[in-house]
Amino acid sequence: MKAVVKARPEPGVEVWEMDAPMAGPGEALVRVRAAFICGSDLGIYGFTPAYSDMTLPVVMGHEFSGVVEAVGEGVEGFAVGDRVLSRSVVSCGECRFCVAGMDNLCESSSLFGIHQDGGFAEYISVPRGLLYPIPGGMSFEEAALVEPLSNAVHFVNDLTPVESGDLAVVLGIGPIGLFSAQLLRLAGAEVLVTGISVDTERFKIAGKLGLEAVNVDNVDPVELVMERTSGRGADIAFVAVGAPSAVHQAVRLVRKRGHVTVVGIFPGDVDVPMTTVVRREITLAGAYDARASNFLEAVNLMETGRISAIELATHRFPLEEAERAFEVAKSRKGCKVLFVP
Ligand SMILES: [Zn+2]
Ligand SMILES: [Zn+2]
Repeated sequence: MKAVVKARPEPGVEVWEMDAPMAGPGEALVRVRAAFICGSDLGIYGFTPAYSDMTLPVVMGHEFSGVVEAVGEGVEGFAVGDRVLSRSVVSCGECRFCVAGMDNLCESSSLFGIHQDGGFAEYISVPRGLLYPIPGGMSFEEAALVEPLSNAVHFVNDLTPVESGDLAVVLGIGPIGLFSAQLLRLAGAEVLVTGISVDTERFKIAGKLGLEAVNVDNVDPVELVMERTSGRGADIAFVAVGAPSAVHQAVRLVRKRGHVTVVGIFPGDVDVPMTTVVRREITLAGAYDARASNFLEAVNLMETGRISAIELATHRFPLEEAERAFEVAKSRKGCKVLFVP
């Protein structure tokens, strides 16, 4: 089979011809039908410090859906031909975080596309416990977007104390920003999304989703928010981009006792205006990945149409054109780029 592989500890990816995996005990072999490039895959492509401990070589990709091709020993509940989507983190189920339902923080987790072979391939072998049936009417592309949506569900619904009537500013107009903005709006907030000039296509998608978005290359978001709130500040800031400037803006535009959720992965350490955090009693919270239960919420939100996903899918490539696919994803010309193996 063909697969997009991170083979070397340096920037770039390779397309390999390799043997398809087998469905081991408790696993299902899935024929991949859609697999999206994530922001983290761009970090892996560039081999940035945040990914320096990954296992090499590894087939990349953790946002995928497909059809069950074979089932291993002891697999119940799934049969050949079933349409499935998958979680991306293989957690141990036994550590204190797993037991407390915080499997995203598992002490010995393994991630598809980082520690074990992922979904940028024709086939992937998946532990049965990570699989969910795709509801009828949901496309493979939508199903593969459940994984990033589940992350946004965790970031917003678990870790951002948003209340109806709040003003929430989402800094970053990528996929996670657009999902999180929709979730904050569902929670009753007035939502403002920010992007930069290179995000032209993403501003159009925000428009289609009915979200108000401003270009911070032209408008100072701190001034804008202060004007709108008579100098009080926004209730919530949500940093959905790994840009240090966005952290600064977030801290400066929230109100006293405001809340800043940070989900971006940064290229290095970030200076935070900590005296502002202290004197204004701002809460600064990190949020990472998703818990198992966020997955079912995400499936439900998408199935019932409360969250729109398919507008985010803008560019499709075969596995052979991995280099081009990554170029488009890095350029931010579109929004979500996917492989159709
Ligand atoms: Zn992802
Ligand atoms: Zn664990």
